[in-house]
Amino acid sequence: MSQTFIISDLHLSGQRPGTIELFFRFLEEQPTPGDQLYILGDLFDAWIGDDDATPPIPQIKEKMLTTSQRGIEIAFIHGNRDFLVGETFAQETGSTLLNEVTVTDINSTPTLLMHGDLLCTDDVEYMKARAFLRNPAFIADIMTKSIPERLAMAAEFRKRSGEANSLKAADIMDVNQQTVEQTMRDHNTLLLIHGHTHRPNTHHFELDGQPAKRIVLAEWHEELGNYLKITNGEIQVHDFPAS
Ligand code: MN
Repeated sequence: MSQTFIISDLHLSGQRPGTIELFFRFLEEQPTPGDQLYILGDLFDAWIGDDDATPPIPQIKEKMLTTSQRGIEIAFIHGNRDFLVGETFAQETGSTLLNEVTVTDINSTPTLLMHGDLLCTDDVEYMKARAFLRNPAFIADIMTKSIPERLAMAAEFRKRSGEANSLKAADIMDVNQQTVEQTMRDHNTLLLIHGHTHRPNTHHFELDGQPAKRIVLAEWHEELGNYLKITNGEIQVHDFPAS
């Protein structure tokens, strides 16, 4: 019986080796051959292009590759911090890049998977910045720059967005319920799973007279990871503590 695992917001970085260790142990201990693993974005704290081979990136790619070679199907949706992950990364890790809004049948239930930032439409400033950053012309221009230049740009951007976030009301940075409902309606689904907001919860509500559910995944820390597991249509959320 194949199982589905879903994780997001690990924010892997050389500065937090504990989280990388935890992720590697999760890959060894949890999914078994024949299972699916969905990563819903922000796997990396920053991603400046598939050509960046600064450690621990090669080690992470290698671990993902051996996991996929073990028979675990890995699928990846971009987060706002790693939207530059490309086809080269997918090939090097044996994973598949999915559309940023993906509906997939999990145990015959159409399930909407997203990173979650697209649902935060109250944050108008963020949505504008997002549109700018995802512009193919802007991305093409960034990719002509050297890796040190791109690293400096990413650090500068993170600093500025950190400063902006500290001044924003908390509810602005959560999802907008109308956007949630419209997105689910557009994709004909009553189950939405996403990360990004770092507000783990299961929200039950009514969508056009039917019971609907939105599950928000938790971010990972060096001491504690988190995953969602679906077996036989039964959804369970688990902590994954450092040993
Ligand atoms: Mn995010």
